[in-house]
Amino acid sequence: MHIDRYAPSPTSDLHLGNLRTAMAGWLLARREGGRWLMRVEDLDRARVRAADGTERRQLDALRRLGLEWDGEVVRQSERLELYRAAVASLPTYECFCTRREIAEASSAPHGGYRPYPGTCRGLSGAERSRRRDERPPAIRVDSGGAEFTVIDATAGEVTGPVDDFVLVRNDGQFAYNLAVVVDDIDMGVTHITRGVDLLESAPRQAWLTRQLGGSPSRYAHIGLVVNPRGERLAKRDGAVTPNDLGLEPAEAVALLASSLGLGPCRSMDEALAAMPGDQRFVEGAVWSEGTLSPSR
Ligand code: GLU
Repeated sequence: MHIDRYAPSPTSDLHLGNLRTAMAGWLLARREGGRWLMRVEDLDRARVRAADGTERRQLDALRRLGLEWDGEVVRQSERLELYRAAVASLPTYECFCTRREIAEASSAPHGGYRPYPGTCRGLSGAERSRRRDERPPAIRVDSGGAEFTVIDATAGEVTGPVDDFVLVRNDGQFAYNLAVVVDDIDMGVTHITRGVDLLESAPRQAWLTRQLGGSPSRYAHIGLVVNPRGERLAKRDGAVTPNDLGLEPAEAVALLASSLGLGPCRSMDEALAAMPGDQRFVEGAVWSEGTLSPSR
């Protein structure tokens, strides 16, 4: 069985890059006669409140292109009990480090993910209660310095370090890396199609999947749409949703299908029929002056 999901965060309207990734996941699932599920990642309440109505617009935008999903929409904000139970089942410890302290103690290149060096792992009970008076703790998983290998359709076997990443932030919110894994297990997900910007987090998430008794998914991390400066497409790049561009659904599908190497198909069924059996959607695309071309 092939069960994939699309998991938008309802913080801004879906742009061409988001829709292109959704399209790739839908096509890969439908080619296998599989299921394509929808999960709204709305845990970040402050950001979601600021973006009122965005979820509805995102779902409408997907439906308009013919990206129909199976079953009910799953919302992370309604699943806090599941996350709580998962955290309780894992070896964890409280962490009082500030971002700055972690940056100083970790050797990651500037701007990249900084693996946590384990500073708070061995704190005594007395030390912890003293620190709790200063700031609320985050909860980290005690990973024991693992490594984990995932299988990606594009990149092949990818092995990455698993640090003691955050499960619950110090404002009490469940962390993305926890929620995504708990949900993928609970929803029976077997395949994960998403942007290549998330490849780095896959070994960590797959490791956690194992710890929670699930089987890691197979991944397809696909190329992003970038602006002419090579940066991920964002709202600030101007008119980048089909609506902004005044595109009819069939025109938007044709633009995106072409950028996926399928030709100017005018419906998702046409795109599915045009899709070669070994299609992997390796390449990203560049959005420049109203055209979307494959990136090199
Ligand atoms: N909600 C995440 C995002 O919008 C996607 C998470 C995932 O696909 O694993 O970037």
